[in-house]
Amino acid sequence: MKKYTLAELQKLVDDQTQGRGGYWPEEMILRHAHKELSEIGEAMDFESGALKPKPGQKIPNIPYELADALYALICFANRRGVDLAQALIEKKGIIEERDKDRFKKSDKSKPQYGSGRDGGDGDE
Ligand SMILES: [Mg+2]
Repeated sequence: MKKYTLAELQKLVDDQTQGRGGYWPEEMILRHAHKELSEIGEAMDFESGALKPKPGQKIPNIPYELADALYALICFANRRGVDLAQALIEKKGIIEERDKDRFKKSDKSKPQYGSGRDGGDGDE
């Protein structure tokens, strides 16, 4: 499968959305993004066994729900004219500078992540 840049993904989403009548209002897009993020949490609850599906209820698929949430956030960014790649790189620099003395590799205060699947640094 082709690897896409964030700019290419923004363009793909824009082309698809414009071809389907355009973007929803910003507030509606954000509510939709929130709903999709909640579906990720719900999928995790099913995965852990904390929740059991209701009869006939479809269990959310985490990768698809992540894609739903990202799609909504890309729509919001596109509507606002935000270059997500540029914003992410700028934010990465801000986090690196802000946290340069905050965490060390041996720092036990840093949140520990189980499987490394998240790949995150615990920040947003
Ligand atoms: Mg969904």
